[in-house]
Amino acid sequence: MSYQVQPSTLRFLWADTPAAEADIIIVGFPFDGTTSYRAGTRFGPNALREGSWTLEVYSPHLDRSLTGMKIADVGDLPLPPTGSERVTQMIYEYCSTQVKAGKKLAGIGGEHSVSYGLIKACFDKYPDLQVFHFDAHADLREDWMGERWSHASIIKRVLDFLPPNRLTQYGIRSGTQDEFTWMRANNTLVENRDELIHRMKNANAPIFITFDLDFYDPAYFPGTGTPEPGGGSPHEIFSIFNEIKNDINLVGFDALELAPQFDSSNVSGVLAAKTLRELLLLF
Ligand code: MN
Ligand code: MN
Repeated sequence: MSYQVQPSTLRFLWADTPAAEADIIIVGFPFDGTTSYRAGTRFGPNALREGSWTLEVYSPHLDRSLTGMKIADVGDLPLPPTGSERVTQMIYEYCSTQVKAGKKLAGIGGEHSVSYGLIKACFDKYPDLQVFHFDAHADLREDWMGERWSHASIIKRVLDFLPPNRLTQYGIRSGTQDEFTWMRANNTLVENRDELIHRMKNANAPIFITFDLDFYDPAYFPGTGTPEPGGGSPHEIFSIFNEIKNDINLVGFDALELAPQFDSSNVSGVLAAKTLRELLLLF
């Protein structure tokens, strides 16, 4: 069975290239079936799209513009509200079809578990894939209350196929002692901006960026289900992207965990959209 997207009434900026002609596919995964604290990320994709309306297509941070890029915002993949293993499979099948057709994927969450299908589809095509994981949380639990496909286990599931030496985690400031012990023992945790830039510039391999937006401090990004104080800033991210923009081979990314009902201003939606724009400009 092949799963079809449903066009949204909203769109990310002007990303209106017909899907068949597009190089890049923006697709939403409106799912919050395993969120461990506060649900609501199923409303993330459209809040991000709405937030994009205040943005320009030109980024002064990167001195690059979306103008001329062939991008299609194809809408959302309709997903059931629960059943994360089946949802993961649906996302994987959709993403595999797109990656095999030569498309680059920009996924919008949705909770972090939706990443699995995106990353696995890219890994199938690029077996030397390197994953860069931005997040407040380690997401390395074997399961969350028995759920192996939880957003708290997503990176652990990715490690079922990805060797640990191809994973870098940045911004992590919450996890169990076991998770931190594992990250330090396996050298996946980077706590220093320069080291992150060094790793990205010297990856010498296709890169997937999985960007859990709760990476940002809740002062910048309150619209999320599991806010974790002590996080990074937009300035930090945009300056890092500027330093690596000419040296990486980005093949896919996602931007996740926007839960707009916790931010009545939707500044979180704007920051999510701006992060998406900067990531698109790294393609
Ligand atoms: Mn996460
Ligand atoms: Mn997180």
